[in-house]
Amino acid sequence: MLPTSENPSGLLTAIRIQHSISSDNGSKAPINESSLNLFNQAWLNRLDDNPTVIRLLNNVPPIDEHTLCLLVLELFQKQPSLFAVPVVNHLNHPVGIVERNSFVETFIRPYAKELNAKKTIADFMNKTPVIVDKETSIDDIARIIVDAGMQHMVSGFIATDEGQYLGIANGHNLLTEITQRKQANLFKLAHFDQLTKLPNRVLFLDRLNMAIIQSERQQSQVGLLFIDLDKFKHFNDSMGHSFGDELLIAVSERLIECARESETVARLSGDEFTILLDNVKSQADLDVLCNRILDSMKQPLRVMGREVFITVSIGSAMCPSDDDKSAGLLVKADAAMYEAKRSGRNAYRHYVTGMNLYSYERMTLETDLRMALERNEFELYYQPQVLLSSGKVVGNEALIRWRHPLRGLLPPIHFIELIEESGLIVPIGKWVIEEACRQQVIWMRSGLEPMCMSVNISAMQFYQSDFCEMVKSIVIESGIQPEHLELELTESVCMHDVGSVLIPLQELHDFGVKLAIDDFGTGFSNLSYLNKFPIDRLKIDQSFIRHIESEPVNIEIVRAIVALGRSMSLELVAEGVETDNEMDLAESCGCEFVQGYRFSKPLPADQLELWLSDFSKKNS
Ligand code: C2E
Ligand code: MG
Ligand code: MG
Repeated sequence: MLPTSENPSGLLTAIRIQHSISSDNGSKAPINESSLNLFNQAWLNRLDDNPTVIRLLNNVPPIDEHTLCLLVLELFQKQPSLFAVPVVNHLNHPVGIVERNSFVETFIRPYAKELNAKKTIADFMNKTPVIVDKETSIDDIARIIVDAGMQHMVSGFIATDEGQYLGIANGHNLLTEITQRKQANLFKLAHFDQLTKLPNRVLFLDRLNMAIIQSERQQSQVGLLFIDLDKFKHFNDSMGHSFGDELLIAVSERLIECARESETVARLSGDEFTILLDNVKSQADLDVLCNRILDSMKQPLRVMGREVFITVSIGSAMCPSDDDKSAGLLVKADAAMYEAKRSGRNAYRHYVTGMNLYSYERMTLETDLRMALERNEFELYYQPQVLLSSGKVVGNEALIRWRHPLRGLLPPIHFIELIEESGLIVPIGKWVIEEACRQQVIWMRSGLEPMCMSVNISAMQFYQSDFCEMVKSIVIESGIQPEHLELELTESVCMHDVGSVLIPLQELHDFGVKLAIDDFGTGFSNLSYLNKFPIDRLKIDQSFIRHIESEPVNIEIVRAIVALGRSMSLELVAEGVETDNEMDLAESCGCEFVQGYRFSKPLPADQLELWLSDFSKKNS
């Protein structure tokens, strides 16, 4: 290349940028603030992949730097869509670019053709083209366009592969690409859940509507699964929201594994997921998927380095048999899910006519719940716990009931999650402790043999800063012996960061109150946390005890829990013992205490007194 006045050294002064502007070695063009602002959003909205210029390259054959202008003019005239021509030297390295419009314009002037036609293109080309490596990201190129006052929109970008000319990209195309990606990203924001990346409610409803329309045409059926995590709230409250978020991601991945590619898995809100199946032949198709999901949840999920077990409750409904509108279908699948929860969770149910439509019920329940405490609508029922070696009742668990003015007596499955979600668990939970202590003192004063009173504590209650003080003052005011009060906590409470849990637990323990882990075995598979805390008893979850005789693996699990408990000198309670067989097996596995329908269902205080005297007569 010959030295010119613009390029005295004869060296190419093109901007060469590497793979990424931010990682280059200082040769990048300065970027002013307004250009940054303009494209900031584009960078922020960067999609996972970061497209490079290579995919926008036009295969424009380059011309040699000695080519005559006349030939270049002819080239442009023959190819109206050619926006620029790259110029290369004898090594095939790009040395300039000829931009169509400005080049052609120079020849419009009188005599220009005659004067210039025989000159070489080197005199007319732009000698400072933007040359980029083929891997340069489109975002980076956008910065150059803006920085150069859009100049490179016109002339374009030359891309090289190790210095060799590779192709030329139009600046317009590059910006269009960015705009489209921004739009795609906006679409993503509006239609996909940011956390799990699953379709959100909007997109899901859209797909559901489409599927319904299609099914009408094809006379086929659409299936809808409504999936809700069991006790998600416990995890969220006790382990913190980041843990809850990671758990939701892990669940969403599990659901995707269970579903076929043609089935849409979506996250509706919170811990609610849906799956849309089109072309369903019968309910059996839905059964298959429901079973697959329930089975898959038996495997632990890995969340923040821990193994976690969580179950789901699933409701399903079909279009058109259950409803032919998307909103109706959702409400019905939701109602069926609620039935699955009522049946004890970790189950699925299909919608059948007459099921309570949960959303409506839930709404009114929430309103009613706010008044229930003032109106004294809560009651405690008590379920005895028996020490197998002596055959005596050694304790009772207080279980809340709500005597709803219209719906009658409701067990906690109908309202406990609502209470927790609404924060009402704090005052209602306090009432439970007060009432249970009051009852315990009455029983002790009436001369009944010493028993312990167990009270369930929600994670949210436990994390109240004044929880310990509250318990202590109730104990003192009621006159209950601290060792006659046992607090049942869930496993997830103990998994919270050790420091914040240990202090209140230790304080309560030092005060004399007993501590138990409820529903043990359903939360985390990593049990090493146990010996960090001053716990007295483990209550083995009823799902391991129920049908223990027909599920040999349960025996193994119970034995393992017993061995673990014993190694830490913990007492072991088998929950949900319904039959003699279950009782015998629980005993043979090493459980010392049992609780369950085998002895008694939870009863109101006065009925329990009758039952107790009956029971002690039979056993004396
Ligand atoms: P939980 O603490 O594990 O209580 C045992 C549940 O199993 C009780 O259900 C009891 O009625 C039931 N059950 C006991 N033996 C058997 C049996 O042999 N077979 C069967 N099928 N079920 C049996 P309930 O009363 O409906 O309570 C359910 C859950 O609600 C409790 O589980 C506890 O987690 C929660 N809960 C109850 N009362 C309170 C409360 O006052 N505060 C809080 N935070 N939670 C409560
Ligand atoms: Mg309990
Ligand atoms: Mg339990």
